[in-house]
Amino acid sequence: MKFCEDCRIKKHWPRSTGFPYIGIAMNSKCEVCGKHTDCNDVPGLELVPDSEKSTEQRLLAQAMNNAYREKAEALVVTNVSGTRAGHLNHEKTEQLRKILVKVGTAVDWQATYDLRLRAQEGYQKDEQTKRDRRVYDK
Ligand SMILES: [Zn+2]
Repeated sequence: MKFCEDCRIKKHWPRSTGFPYIGIAMNSKCEVCGKHTDCNDVPGLELVPDSEKSTEQRLLAQAMNNAYREKAEALVVTNVSGTRAGHLNHEKTEQLRKILVKVGTAVDWQATYDLRLRAQEGYQKDEQTKRDRRVYDK
């Protein structure tokens, strides 16, 4: 759900667990007041405090967390260039797997997945830039 900072404060809603790395939607429409601005982007379920969640909501949150755990653990970094292009980059994949977003002692796998996805894109973009630079240098 996307909502502006004013509405977040008014409603006493939390920010995304991965803030400021994730959980921001630039130039979006606030779903509460309709204003176009930089918004918080937080899954609707996270806005309900655990103590107020119904059994279904709790089960749904758990199921989503498990689904995101699988997605997060399946993310890998592959080499973009060189003779090992397309192959798994073990070192970067190890680093990726060390990224964990925790709420208290529990892992927030949706936030972890989002953050790992950013890191994965970052690594690959970085490699791409290096490769492009090598091409230009010639
Ligand atoms: Zn708003």
